[in-house]
Amino acid sequence: MHFITVYGVTANMGETGIQVYFDNYSPIGDITVMATCIFIVALVFTSYVKKSKSFKIFLNLIVYLFLAAATNVFYHNMYAGITDGNYRWVYILRCAFHAFLFSNLLLYIVYIVELQRLELAKKVPVMIISVILYFFAIAVDIFTTVSGKGFKLTKNGRAVNGVDVFFWGYISFIIIIAFLMLVNRKRLYKQVMLGFYATMIISFVLLFIQGIVGNNSYTVVSFMFPVLAMLYLVHSNPYDIELGAIDAKALEDLVSYNYEKKRSMIFFSLYLPDFDEEGKQFTKEIQTAIRRFASEYFKAGVLFQVSSGHIILMAEKRRNPDYENRVNKIINAFNVEKEKFGYDFKIVLGETVDEVSRRKEYVSFIRIIQDHIDMNTIHMVEYEDIERFNNYEYVLSELEDIYRKKDLRDTRVMAYCQPVYNIQTKKYDTAEALMRLKLPDIGMVYPDKFIGLAEANGYIHVLTQIILQKTCDEIKNLLKKGYDFKRISVNVSVLEMRDEKFTSDIEQIIDASGIPEEKVAIELTESQSESDFELMKDIIDSLKGKGVKFYLDDFGTGFSNMERIMGLPFDIIKFDRSLVIASDSDERAEKMVSSLANMFAELDYSVLYEGVENESDEERCIRMSASYLQGYKYSKPIPMIELSRFFSKKE
Ligand code: C2E
Ligand code: CA
Ligand code: CA
Repeated sequence: MHFITVYGVTANMGETGIQVYFDNYSPIGDITVMATCIFIVALVFTSYVKKSKSFKIFLNLIVYLFLAAATNVFYHNMYAGITDGNYRWVYILRCAFHAFLFSNLLLYIVYIVELQRLELAKKVPVMIISVILYFFAIAVDIFTTVSGKGFKLTKNGRAVNGVDVFFWGYISFIIIIAFLMLVNRKRLYKQVMLGFYATMIISFVLLFIQGIVGNNSYTVVSFMFPVLAMLYLVHSNPYDIELGAIDAKALEDLVSYNYEKKRSMIFFSLYLPDFDEEGKQFTKEIQTAIRRFASEYFKAGVLFQVSSGHIILMAEKRRNPDYENRVNKIINAFNVEKEKFGYDFKIVLGETVDEVSRRKEYVSFIRIIQDHIDMNTIHMVEYEDIERFNNYEYVLSELEDIYRKKDLRDTRVMAYCQPVYNIQTKKYDTAEALMRLKLPDIGMVYPDKFIGLAEANGYIHVLTQIILQKTCDEIKNLLKKGYDFKRISVNVSVLEMRDEKFTSDIEQIIDASGIPEEKVAIELTESQSESDFELMKDIIDSLKGKGVKFYLDDFGTGFSNMERIMGLPFDIIKFDRSLVIASDSDERAEKMVSSLANMFAELDYSVLYEGVENESDEERCIRMSASYLQGYKYSKPIPMIELSRFFSKKE
């Protein structure tokens, strides 16, 4: 197997006195490796790379690679320069060189094991075998060298080769690595796997050729290939080339890395809603302005692109110590930019907060703040923001739990309701179900704090099913006790109607309760999209066939596309409170609302006014063709079990 007798070295002084290497060794390869290592380390410290555990192993690899290359250069130089036959240092350096390469091989294994996230039971035996192999290989290498059974130099500088410990050690490590990669191949992303294989094969071929030629100038270079592949395949960041921004996940990693290091950071978040749609991009001018702004006002700032219209700049506080004094300057500078572009914006500015860093939730923290501030304002983070965030996180986790458990009688979801006054019968004979959450840590939570959240996270349909279940339970109870009422309505979100199972889920709950379908109504709001309209039509048609009634909610707040509204067989049109308020302003406004209501009444829709708070509202609404009235004038929302106070019994 002498073809990989990589170290069949012979060197001496040439006749001209110029140093030559008898084994044709050229330091070029090793010097290139050293330069590359320094370059990579410099890159790492001047740009952002996620400092994961595997990345730290990677940095160690770079260090050992550098040491191996340096030792190899020294070893060859030393060898070529010795004339007195005392090769002690040559032997020592040669063993050290091998030890550094073995360290590299061991680190490859540690690295691969880390990437594959092996469980302890699989990890421990591999590591034990590798560490034993590592020490064994180094010990044997030293032993064979000392005892003269391995590599040896004669007095006149000729190499005599005995056992090639490095070769056998190298082969053993490669077998372990190949084994790890093959057995756990499913654990690595395919592209990464292929990349590793390719570089390993290249390294192997290079060593092979070296062996044949009897040259070892490129041994360390061959170790370099897998390292470069790792840097590219595993540790490169998904950059937005044009903006130079990194994606949002990296933001959380950066903050949490600095948090562990007890370093505060500052952030500057810019949201431009005009660009925040899928497929949209900042214009070239905005990109340039952002880049310039980021580098002029923040030292060592890193830009992250959260969504197409939202970027966040993060910078270490200690590198921007005067940032608080400069806030006004920053704001002024921004205002100049803003004047130039004239887009709507929201800015959030502040320092990292331990509670948020720990949870890696900056993007949602900033989004929550953003939701609460007005358009075209600049907001400095304050204590209330953190409190709101904590609540939000808690509500979200409870919602998730409710969703997961899917208990239709979950006690955390409370069915409240508001009785509705019927003008014709002068009685309360319908009501609207309204949801509240009652959570262990913070008590009652109102819809404005959780409906949007539940919708955004896909939990709303389960909540609707729970409210429907509780409403059906109460309807059943009221009927059993002999109460006379028409129905109770339940609010449904447009989003959940897109769920294929929507109709059957609703039917199933009503059917299982054994109540007549016409005792249940569903309140829907108008949607802008044509496909939602078609969907709504199908759903209404199929459920109406069974007797369920439909209300159009919040009329007057949206787009009020009359043609579409008329295309859907609603039973009741709910005029939003804003129309009740508007009709109070002057006669013209009242006429307008009144004629809208008239039109609906003539087309056989019933009109319900929401938010009737006093006598004057009531009188006006009655003048404006009302059939039903709902509002604080009659009752605030009450727990559903108290509804019997409003309903009357059959005569
Ligand atoms: P909405 O469907 O328009 O419900 C009417 C809201 O107006 C209720 O607020 C009610 O308490 C309030 N309100 C009633 N009378 C008056 C009044 O005289 N004056 C004023 N200023 N307000 C009045 P709530 O309970 O906070 O619910 C807010 C919104 O949350 C609801 O608006 C609805 O869109 C949503 N929501 C409530 N429960 C559910 C539910 O079970 N499912 C879904 N998807 N949404 C729900
Ligand atoms: Ca409603
Ligand atoms: Ca409403």
